[in-house]
Amino acid sequence: MPKNQARRPARPRFLLGPGQRLIAVFVVFILLPGAFLGLFALRALRQEGRLAEQRTRERLERVVGEIVADLDSNFRQWEETLRLADKEGPFDSGSYPDIIRQALEQPGCGVLLFESQRGLQTFPHEALLYQLADAPAPQGIPSRFPPSLAEAESLEIERKDNERAIRAYRRLLDSSDTKLRPLILQRLARTLRKAGRLEEAATAYRDLQRLDTAWIGGLPSDLIARSELCSLAAERGDNAQLQAYALAFYRDLSGGKWLLDKPRYLYYSERCRSWCLEGQAAEAEFNDLRMTEERKLALTRAAGELLNEPARILPGEAGVHLAFWLTDPLAAVVLSAGFLNSNWWPQVLSAKGEDIDAALFSPDGRALFGSSPAETQPFAVTRELRAGEAPWRLKVWPRQPAAIQAEIRQRQTLLLTMLVFVGVLLLFGGAITIRIVRREMEIARLRADFVSTVSHEFRSPLTGIRHLAEMLLEGRVTAPEKQRGYFRMIVQESDRLARLVENILDFSRMEEGRREYRYEPLSPTPWLRKLAADFGSEIAASGVVVEANIPDGLPSISADSQALGSAVRNLLDNAVKYSPGEKTVWLDAEAGDAAIRIAVRDRGVGISEQDRKHIFDRFYRADGDISKTVKGAGLGLSLVQHIVAAHDGTVECRSRIGEGSIFTIRLPFAPITGGG
Ligand code: ADP
Repeated sequence: MPKNQARRPARPRFLLGPGQRLIAVFVVFILLPGAFLGLFALRALRQEGRLAEQRTRERLERVVGEIVADLDSNFRQWEETLRLADKEGPFDSGSYPDIIRQALEQPGCGVLLFESQRGLQTFPHEALLYQLADAPAPQGIPSRFPPSLAEAESLEIERKDNERAIRAYRRLLDSSDTKLRPLILQRLARTLRKAGRLEEAATAYRDLQRLDTAWIGGLPSDLIARSELCSLAAERGDNAQLQAYALAFYRDLSGGKWLLDKPRYLYYSERCRSWCLEGQAAEAEFNDLRMTEERKLALTRAAGELLNEPARILPGEAGVHLAFWLTDPLAAVVLSAGFLNSNWWPQVLSAKGEDIDAALFSPDGRALFGSSPAETQPFAVTRELRAGEAPWRLKVWPRQPAAIQAEIRQRQTLLLTMLVFVGVLLLFGGAITIRIVRREMEIARLRADFVSTVSHEFRSPLTGIRHLAEMLLEGRVTAPEKQRGYFRMIVQESDRLARLVENILDFSRMEEGRREYRYEPLSPTPWLRKLAADFGSEIAASGVVVEANIPDGLPSISADSQALGSAVRNLLDNAVKYSPGEKTVWLDAEAGDAAIRIAVRDRGVGISEQDRKHIFDRFYRADGDISKTVKGAGLGLSLVQHIVAAHDGTVECRSRIGEGSIFTIRLPFAPITGGG
């Protein structure tokens, strides 16, 4: 059978060759699904990002809904409080919602207003700074004065006789009824002051201040006394006294001790402040009073606006206020938005999670509660709600959007890394699979080649033997000399056959791991010399000689002489086979430090560096021209290696193309225990 046919045994014809089929299988079953999966995963990756954003937004939407519901229920509850409140007093905030109670307790933060039969009531009583509606004139001093008072007044005012007037007032003070005392004292003090008797005037004002409050000309008597005491101290330049009087006066005035009408209140407040500054009153306390007064002033103005025209939001220069009210009769609560912002809004938000911020905007766009987010706030969710006439706007956003984005990116990176890893694994696995399958295919091909080669190897000695035997049988060869020659050739051919069979059996035993070695002490010198001689006579007919250089007395080794002999024979066989036209091959031996070296040398075709890496592989045959003409199964060298390794030895090849090859076996002196 021609060589190329042996390499390609008949097989079913497919559209593609096995290599292409393999690639097609890889592409169809691994690469394409892998690519699809990859694309799919990339899409999922992008969607994952969008999904995470959507989840954040959905959560914010939910929070917005919850806050709207909270606002609604709180506002309703506050209105409800008004329905249940006792409009006639006494004022008791115990049953009120916490936030309203706190607002009412802090000056300037909240006030309740009720319209009752007694007019407009405010709770707490001193929450506002001045009267919002006209109050009935306070009673206390009889409207008809005795004639002696008129006389004293005429001395003081018309005749301008202060001394006599003072005496008249003093007499009156001792004689008249107590209800008139504040009025007379006030007149006396006034006249004393006009007379320049400032000390006595101050004493009289202090007396007046100590009396129960009585209203004189629309003003409380003690207020008049304290105002005059301040004025006197200022006039006398007594700063220490002015300081004490003014601060105390301002504290009582702004604390709501006297409910004046608006212009009077503003007038006295202004006076108090300028006396405090003039007297250099304690700065911290003064500022405190001043701030509280500002708050109360804003609250009072807001309450005034509410009475004018009820509205949920009462905008004021000094701060926005919220109002909740019922009509008929009017009951209302006015709360400072600033107070709610710092005391109530954080509570509303804290229930929604640490990481969320929100702001509520009034219809005119200013933030009532919370502070405005940055312009470019990602993920912010806005909703309009009705809590008055115009729509309010609620905006909710995550406190740290960067953290959310970073988390999304981190998850994406993780997924991407995993994807790349799986991709690399897939490619790597694919590559390994292809390599393994290729090798298996190569071995399958080599096996097929092996069968055809082996049959071929068998055929030629068999044909030779048959031919010679026939000639002898038919008596065509009569000369005894010739007959002996023919018989020798028959024996040689049978030997070759036997060696071939032995090689194949060895190989199959070796493959199955059943090859056993019987080690015995062996003297290399005689053994190698005999081997060379035997091999030489076997190939004598081909005209090739084996030149053996075996020194005497090589140290003995432990070996299976039959197996080792077949290894050396294989090397000699190859040396002859691959040196066409050469008439000599060499068998050399020498003793080294711990091993003997057996070298088989030829001047044949040589082996390329590339082939040298593989020649010891089973079924491997170099790809040169020589392989086409020289028969072989690619088993010899793999057997050699196996046998030598079983003897704890090594085999190596040195060669140069066109110059020849040397195969060297190294075997240790030491006896070998065990077998392979
Ligand atoms: P084969 O039956 O083909 O000789 P081997 O295992 O003995 O199988 O050898 C493997 C291959 O190594 C051979 O096909 C040949 O190409 C190469 N080879 C072995 N010995 C020699 C040599 N002495 N000179 C050149 N090539 C050699």
